[in-house]
Amino acid sequence: MSAGHDDRPWLDPTLSVPERVESLLGRMTLHDKVGQTHQVANIHPDDDADLLRDGRIGSSLFASGATGGNERDEGVLAGNIDAAQRHATDESRLGIPVLFGRDVIHGHRTVCPIPLGLAASFDEALVEEVAALAAAEAVVDGVAWTFAPMVDLSEEPRWGRVAESLGETPVLSGRMAAAMVRGFQGSGAAGVADESRIAACAKHFAGYGLSAGGRDYDTVSVGENTLRNLHLRPFRTAVDAGVCTVMAAFNDVDGIPMHAHRHLLRDVLKGEWGFEGVVVADWNGIGQLVFQGVAGDLRDAARQAIEAGIDLDMCSGAYAAHLADLVESGEVDVALVDDAVRRLLTLKFRLGLFEKPFVGDPGRSNAPTAQSRAVALRAARAAHVLVSNNGVLPLSPDVGTVHLTGPFAEAGEELLGTWTLDGRGEDVVAPATAFRERLGDKRLLVTDGRFSDRAVQQVRNADVTVAVVGEHPWRSGEANSVTDIGLPAGQLDYLRQLSRIGKPLVVVAYTGRPLELGEIMDLSDAVIVVWHPGVEAGTALADVVFGDVSPHGRLPMTFPRTTGHIPTSTHQRPTGRVIELDEDGRLGRYLDDLVFPRLPFGHGLGYTTFEYGDLRATGSTELPLDGSVEVEIEVVNTGARSGREVVQLSFRDPVAQVTRPLTELLDWSVLDLAPGEKGTATFTVRADQLAYHGRDNVLRVDPGEIVLSAGPDALHGSRLTVSVTP
Ligand code: BGC
Repeated sequence: MSAGHDDRPWLDPTLSVPERVESLLGRMTLHDKVGQTHQVANIHPDDDADLLRDGRIGSSLFASGATGGNERDEGVLAGNIDAAQRHATDESRLGIPVLFGRDVIHGHRTVCPIPLGLAASFDEALVEEVAALAAAEAVVDGVAWTFAPMVDLSEEPRWGRVAESLGETPVLSGRMAAAMVRGFQGSGAAGVADESRIAACAKHFAGYGLSAGGRDYDTVSVGENTLRNLHLRPFRTAVDAGVCTVMAAFNDVDGIPMHAHRHLLRDVLKGEWGFEGVVVADWNGIGQLVFQGVAGDLRDAARQAIEAGIDLDMCSGAYAAHLADLVESGEVDVALVDDAVRRLLTLKFRLGLFEKPFVGDPGRSNAPTAQSRAVALRAARAAHVLVSNNGVLPLSPDVGTVHLTGPFAEAGEELLGTWTLDGRGEDVVAPATAFRERLGDKRLLVTDGRFSDRAVQQVRNADVTVAVVGEHPWRSGEANSVTDIGLPAGQLDYLRQLSRIGKPLVVVAYTGRPLELGEIMDLSDAVIVVWHPGVEAGTALADVVFGDVSPHGRLPMTFPRTTGHIPTSTHQRPTGRVIELDEDGRLGRYLDDLVFPRLPFGHGLGYTTFEYGDLRATGSTELPLDGSVEVEIEVVNTGARSGREVVQLSFRDPVAQVTRPLTELLDWSVLDLAPGEKGTATFTVRADQLAYHGRDNVLRVDPGEIVLSAGPDALHGSRLTVSVTP
């Protein structure tokens, strides 16, 4: 033991983390332990000084008051956190630092595209960079932990939280989540202890994306087989990537609220998967067990939650009020509390918080820099999905006059998107600013479309109109569900008026969800779906519209034809009547419309064209259970510009113990090709990638045929049958 820690050996950094945890745990009273399981919404360092000195608060989401400044101003949050940490560490018996968590979802100060837009990039390295940047900025403010990534699969465009998701498929969501985990937590030798890294959190476990009717917080009816074959998979990938924490979901699953779901939390997540990190409640999720009608009171809720495996109580106060009593009365085994505290202390030690509880230099700025903006710009460009284009795009640099119009032409803060606690409108490059830079005032007309007649008249004076429409960020995100995925009121009418004049019309949709695009695609010459792109919104848009960049984003969610078609996802399973996804809609089951989606998962155009060859095996088409096959497909750039193609490999298992998706993304490969250039996308398919949970919910791979398909989206591709052999 190094000198100076005789009394408090856990402060000795030369000991291993388990040694430090056990020595500390051995010295803790029951009340000390309960303190660690208690997370508060906000710490006021002066008012809460005694609670901090007594170790009654383990974690917090905010810190305010001590410095007297506005928490959003530079250095204020850091100063408040330092003041709180001083009480918790220097002035307490055990010296345990507080764990500050915050929703750093898609950038901290340098806001990048919303997660759905990041997923559209299909670029894991870029997404890792974005998360690493967010972590580096967040630590400057004293944040040690983020509540991201959200990996709930999103099949339901009415649900506002799809904006925070990484799309609808387990493979894309899982791989993007793993990239974010690496970015936030670091993958070097120091891992999460690295000074510029923070702990990540895979949320919300589980099934939240299936909330009934897309209404936030609603109930979920799903069987364990579908959960395991789809919705649990990205969580598993995040756990395997080493995510430090997992957050429980607000919803129930088939009648059992997740905050009391012992089977999924304790048996599956902590048991079967061996997750050793922290399970955190969602905001008042334990308290809500009472409203959900499975707990008589808060005490009962606390008992059920600790038994289910919730380690940290976010903001319900149930553990702080009742856990000690539940243990003393013998209703809760203290071993459950010890297990929770062990996990929480392990995280604090791993983060290096005992060595460095203070920010260091609260005066340090985290304002966007040239470097951080460069990352944000690449990410914003990559989020642009060109969904239709009759050749109007890209605009030539010597296009005459451009009419930029719509509610987001001059937008700032609105383009940051949901969950941007620390982003600022003044950091955003508005579309009009970026267009003005290219065209000057003389060749640019800007109107917001509010005084529609005048704005519509401007079309006559311009050679092309670019209409920037879509959703304000408060129309997506948490608690912002809609019954209609059409454009917000008035916008479609405005586009109709613009189109009637007969000049070329480009529509840019800023959105947190799939929108109903049918009529918009019909009345315009090109449509770009951009999500909410962050601080470099305008620059990225101008780069794409004027062709400096060929758009290469792909839709991470299916776009249904109308709200009435929901749910539509790639994971539709065969029925007794529908055995094939049919483009002509011949197998449609609606009297009044086709069932085929407006735009399939993975769709996205660039400024060139690609021609696909046939998918073929490089060797045998036999796939041994413990082996792999290699398949490849040639892609030629048949257009006049360079471009990026995202070649998507999907599969279907035609005969299994349970109904399996008609198509499911398996892998993808990115090809950058010059005009005329031929590239080959090569995929190695292992038998375990085709595994599914059978009737007994156990993972299995069956011998037999598997149909692979490679192409530009989930529904179009060249097929090849391979055989899994015993
Ligand atoms: C959300 C979580 C979030 C938490 C803390 C909850 O309402 O569901 O996703 O991390 O608040 O802000």
